[in-house]
Amino acid sequence: MSFSTLGLTSELTRAAAHKGYSEPTPIQKAAIPAILEGRDVLAGAQTGTGKTAAFVLPILQQLGAPQAASPRALVLTPTRELAAQVAASAAEYGRYLTLRTVVIFGGVSEKPQVQALRQGCDLLVATPGRLLDLAQQRLLDLSQVRCLVLDEADRMLDMGFIHAIRQILKLLPPKRQNLLFSATYSEDIRALAGRLLHAPVMLEVAPRNATADRIEQHVYQVPQAHKRHLLAHLIRDGQWQQVLIFTRTKHGANRLTQQLSGAGIHAAAIHGNKSQAARVRALEDFKARRITALVATEVAARGLDIKELPHVVNYELPNVPEDYVHRIGRTARAGGSGAALSLVSPEEAGLLRDIERVLKRAIPVLPAPAFTVAAPEAAPAAPAGGAHRAAARHFAPGQGRRRGGQRRAPSAFARSTRSV
Ligand code: AMP
Repeated sequence: MSFSTLGLTSELTRAAAHKGYSEPTPIQKAAIPAILEGRDVLAGAQTGTGKTAAFVLPILQQLGAPQAASPRALVLTPTRELAAQVAASAAEYGRYLTLRTVVIFGGVSEKPQVQALRQGCDLLVATPGRLLDLAQQRLLDLSQVRCLVLDEADRMLDMGFIHAIRQILKLLPPKRQNLLFSATYSEDIRALAGRLLHAPVMLEVAPRNATADRIEQHVYQVPQAHKRHLLAHLIRDGQWQQVLIFTRTKHGANRLTQQLSGAGIHAAAIHGNKSQAARVRALEDFKARRITALVATEVAARGLDIKELPHVVNYELPNVPEDYVHRIGRTARAGGSGAALSLVSPEEAGLLRDIERVLKRAIPVLPAPAFTVAAPEAAPAAPAGGAHRAAARHFAPGQGRRRGGQRRAPSAFARSTRSV
């Protein structure tokens, strides 16, 4: 099946061809005709499925001739990165059209955004907070919006945007098309869909919470205090060029970034406390392979689209099992393949079980390779009185060391963590 059989104009099919897309993905096959018919859509689709083109292509077609007055289509996204990415996609898919796309989000000066809006806008991509801010200051007119998209709606609710979304809905004309994209369906999403959508076409392209088969998933069992040493070893020894690493906290992301840099690995952190400029720079450096490791928190990494990302590492497991699926979905996107590795400490055994329950399968545990643990950081895992004897130790998980320094026979994970 080709893009033209979906009812798209030649300008849009040419743009898809220019992107190198030979055929539509399942979500595109299902959503594009429905959106062109003017139907409301409720779509269960994760990032990596091609969902952006699934709504951007038909919206560009429906916008028709450019008017560049106030926006006629509005896409709301949870994060600045996703907003920037959707707008960049709209520019690419609209390369043979003259429609104007404007993107607005918080964390940067509003002045250029207001100026861009003044020059006219057909499609507006925005995060809810800044959008509401500008609308309330009457710097933005939403009365012409005929099509609304909530992209990654589940994440917008997780991030507490429901109030802003309700306020925005009040500013939109009641007669409009509504498209809701969400990776998961919670009660809150169902309630929002119930209020927002009129006789929607329901689409579900991948079984919810199912990880892509193409992603190789493994676990290394390793004490928390040794994770950074094992990670540095894996990156160096495997000559990894590009790895996205997830930590649970912003502080943890900063600390790990420093530690990796200290180990000679080019790394940068991306999280909500970083300025927008720093986030954009980190992402650009990572995409251009000027840095090897991008250390991210959940929210910052949501929606990031990095071509052919080969490695994703869960430095800490997420508390919410579904987040594991989103995290590892950063690799093996749209037909590629990739590897997702989780470093799991004994304290995280329960989180791992929860994730495996959601996946409905066990994630294979690999024996970790031998790696070097530099003192004094080895101290937290050392038995009382046993720390700081060596400047560097050779550590092989599954192998312990006697007090006297002789190797023990390989032992169970729990035992080795105590004995190192
Ligand atoms: P998305 O799920 O929208 O974040 O898209 C994930 C990736 O899939 C992006 O890099 C897109 O450029 C790519 N993509 C979208 N549609 C297609 C297609 N029909 N064929 C190949 N790649 C695609």
